[in-house]
Amino acid sequence: MEKLIDVGIIGGGPAGLSAALVLGRARKSVVVIDEGQPRNRVTRETHGFLTRDGVTPSEFRRIAKEQINSYPSVQFVEEAAVSVSGTDGDFQITTSQAKGYRFKKLLFAVGMKDLPLDINGLTEVYGKSAFVCPYCDGWELRDQPLVLIVKGARAMHLAKMISGWTSQYSICTDGPDDLTDEQRDELKQHQVPVFDSPIARIESTNGQVQHIALQDGTIVPCNGIFFAPKLAAGSNLPQAIGCEVTESGTVTVDHFGKTNVAGIYSAGDAAAEMYQAIAAASMGSIAAAGLNFELLSEAWSSHS
Ligand SMILES: Cc1cc2nc3c(=O)[nH]c(=O)nc-3n(C[C@H](O)[C@H](O)[C@H](O)COP(=O)(O)OP(=O)(O)OC[C@H]3O[C@@H](n4cnc5c(N)ncnc54)[C@H](O)[C@@H]3O)c2cc1C
Repeated sequence: MEKLIDVGIIGGGPAGLSAALVLGRARKSVVVIDEGQPRNRVTRETHGFLTRDGVTPSEFRRIAKEQINSYPSVQFVEEAAVSVSGTDGDFQITTSQAKGYRFKKLLFAVGMKDLPLDINGLTEVYGKSAFVCPYCDGWELRDQPLVLIVKGARAMHLAKMISGWTSQYSICTDGPDDLTDEQRDELKQHQVPVFDSPIARIESTNGQVQHIALQDGTIVPCNGIFFAPKLAAGSNLPQAIGCEVTESGTVTVDHFGKTNVAGIYSAGDAAAEMYQAIAAASMGSIAAAGLNFELLSEAWSSHS
């Protein structure tokens, strides 16, 4: 029978790695199981992470692993976790190569994943000149002509947001705009053009968008795009073991990252509504403290 490891961390992005660092320093035995498919792997640079602004996602992970490797109780497994079972104190995880692990506690740091990008030409520009988060990539596109591909209430939110980075932007709703008359008036007042013809194709050269061609023949030139991605949970394992998950795929957690299932925590994009690497790392660190204290409390009680 496999030995019982203190914490199994599923997912080795900023959240999982940050938790691994804290737990390694707290002398807990940890296995990080990671299949290495983060959403931001399409980007050239990660921005806004204090001391790491502009680092590539792969360099970020390399540095993190190098530092975590100073703590010998943390091991890495580069595979997907494919099944989970058990209860607090003895969870079992099986990996894609049929390896089995037993953990006292679990942390799901599985991120989110993009559903297929269904706009012609978007894959070619995603992460190069089309982005999802102005805090991550707005600075690089400041004062540039931009197109927001978004509709309905999210269009109002993104229009307001992007106004902090550029005043030259229009909205392509790629079909019915789902806006109310008041919202259309508000955008008109702010001189934001709205095009509701479906998008025929995003034209680009080497990942740099040139223009958006609409089905009605309109050409909308731009240097960058922000769009609202369609997302799904990074893994269905939290749900499979009984964690409460919202309609949008987010695991419900308390301030320490604790889920409704005893012994299971979640952190990072998997358990947040705002997606930022530093926020994910912070959640991972907090969850690690929660997990460590649970383990210490249980050990303390068993000796009293
Ligand atoms: C295009 C783009 C650009 C971005 N740019 C920035 C930026 O500039 N600055 C910034 O702060 N944020 C940026 N973000 C957001 C940032 O990438 C995320 O907030 C951050 O990566 C979340 O970290 P995480 O650890 O929660 O998840 P992730 O980094 O997504 O890591 C989750 C990991 O879990 C693994 N995993 C999932 N399921 C399993 C399983 N069953 N078994 C094993 N492994 C599994 C995945 O393969 C992945 O490696 C960007 C996001 C995107 C999409």
